[in-house]
Parts: sequence; C-alpha cells; structure tokens
Amino acid sequence: MSRRRQIYEGKAKVLFEGPEPGTIIQYFKDDASAFNNQKKGTITGKGVLNNRISEYLMLRLGEVGVPTHFVRRLNMREQLVREVEIIPIEVVVRNVAAGSLAKRLGIKEGTPLPRSIVEYYYKNDELSNPIVSEEHITAFGWAATQDLDDMMALALRVNDFLTGLFLGIGIRLIDFKLEFGRLYNGDDMQIVIADEISPDNCRLWDFKTNEKMDKDRFRQDLGNVEAGYQEVARRLGIFQEGAPAEHRAAEHRGTKTVQ
Ligand code: UDP
Repeated sequence: MSRRRQIYEGKAKVLFEGPEPGTIIQYFKDDASAFNNQKKGTITGKGVLNNRISEYLMLRLGEVGVPTHFVRRLNMREQLVREVEIIPIEVVVRNVAAGSLAKRLGIKEGTPLPRSIVEYYYKNDELSNPIVSEEHITAFGWAATQDLDDMMALALRVNDFLTGLFLGIGIRLIDFKLEFGRLYNGDDMQIVIADEISPDNCRLWDFKTNEKMDKDRFRQDLGNVEAGYQEVARRLGIFQEGAPAEHRAAEHRGTKTVQ
C-alpha cells in the first residue's frame, strides 16, 4: 500500500492511483464522521463491510443497466474503480422523512413522503454542503442541464431498484446519497454512479421494528453500530458465498420451500 501514490484522503476512504491509467483504488477505512466532521470516531470493521456492501450493490445495479464506476473488489478493504471527474453535487433521494428534511421542514421522522423527493447539495465541506437548486447548479456551472437530467433519471432508477432489493430482505430504504462522475471514453462522456453505496450513506430501517441499521446509530449514539452494518451485510447474503441471492431473499421472507 505504501508504495502506491495517494491521490486523496477523505473521511471514510483513501484513494490511490490504480495499476493502469484511468483507474483508482478505493481503500475503505474504519473512520466515521458526522455533523460536518464535528463528531469523529472509529467503527471497527466498517471499512471491510462497506467495501463488500458497496461492491454488492454496484454489481446488482450494473446488472440492471445502471452504469457505475465499479470495476472489481481487490481485497478486504480495497476496490478498483474507473477514474471519473466527480461532479460536485450530492444527490439525495428520500422516501420517508428523516434527518435534515425532517428537521428543516418540521416533519416527524418516519412519515412516508407523498412521492420520492430528490434533493441536491453542493459538495463543499467549508460551507457544510449547503442544499442548492437546479438553478444554482447550472448557473455556477457545477453541472450542465443534460448532466442533471441524467443524474436525476439514474437516481430514481437506483431508488426503485434498491427499494425493492432491500424490501426483499426486510429493510426499508428511507433515504440515500449518491455521487456521480463523468466517465470519458474518447469523445464520448457518460454519467456514472461513483463513490460508494453503503450504510454510511443510506438510511436503512428494519421493516418490522424500525430499528436503524445505518450511520444514524453512530450519529445518535445508539450503540451496536458495527452490528447494524453487519446485519445489512448478512441479509444481503454477503459472506455466505455460493448461496444464490433469490434463495437467500426467500429464506429471509420465510417463504423458502424445503428442497
Ligand atoms: N448523506 C451522506 N453524506 C452527507 C449528507 C447526507 O451520505 O454529507 C446521506 C445520509 O446518510 C442520509 C441521506 O444522505 O442517508 C440524507 O441525509 P440528510 O440530508 O438527512 O442529512 P443528515 O441527517 O445526515 O445531516
């Protein structure tokens, strides 16, 4: 690891130059931060779990034709991804009121939203990632109208797909954050999902008990943070290599027939 050139160190990941041009290695740390870095901590094993969960979700999305930067997992904590030009906008999709939306609009956490809501935040730590509108994004040139259209369409497809995938394992997808990048291929440019999709950037609640299985356990000092992430991985069937996903989903729903 030490011989590779480090490109960037973020809160939860380190990026290294990849083995060939146009690739990057994402190294997943156990470090966690919240409230714009005011709260910091370590969740033992989080990096290993997020590497696997994000690999799993990116692969499933790829199978249904959603383009992502993911290439392959390299080891317990690292994955190879395509180098993209990151668009400085965080796209949040919400199905149920929680977090900043619940606070900002005075809506009780857990209230289902009348329809899925997409929000944009400007990626800027010094400004604590302010919420912005399409107007700000296009006026300041952070993304073009066509980029935004592609991002919105992809975000809604990801929401539909992940909502169903998680429902199948008894988990409600409350909200999540996506990042996008521009992938260049000669004269062509394609918008793809970048970063990671994991309990660090999704809210996941147990369908029956509403128990939180995501980073809110860390944010709100609920304890058993790692166990929450582990349970998500377990239900997704990660670490049970060889078992087909459909079989595992049926097992969880209790509809598995004895074979
Ligand atoms: N989120 C994220 N990174 C951020 C802000 C939010 O991954 O910098 C995720 C968060 O985990 C949640 C969703 O985006 O799943 C919506 O977060 P919210 O705006 O409610 O902000 P928060 O309550 O996390 O401050």
